[in-house]
Amino acid sequence: MNEWKLECQKSSIGNFSLLKSLDIPVPGQHIAHHEWVILNRLRTGHGPSGEILHKWKIRDCPDCDCGHSLQFIFYIISDCPFRAFNGTVKELHEAIDKAIKWIRTLDIKL
Ligand SMILES: [Zn+2]
Repeated sequence: MNEWKLECQKSSIGNFSLLKSLDIPVPGQHIAHHEWVILNRLRTGHGPSGEILHKWKIRDCPDCDCGHSLQFIFYIISDCPFRAFNGTVKELHEAIDKAIKWIRTLDIKL
């Protein structure tokens, strides 16, 4: 187990610094399962965004409906003028009420 922790800490996993400890449960486990899934997709940057759906040949274009040429998870969180989260990545990770409300109002399926 300790070797695994060291490997994670040395890795370049995005947002790894938000984890206080690998022994402490990740925040947000109190929310509904479908919201938990979205929250973790947002945390990791891996989910069915326009970029991924295009890569999987489900969509013709990887763009966002706001006009940006590439819709990816961190773009949705931070920059999309239609739906960016009005808070920090840390607040989203910590699943504060504002973040959960934002997830519930997202108009795209992640
Ligand atoms: Zn957009």
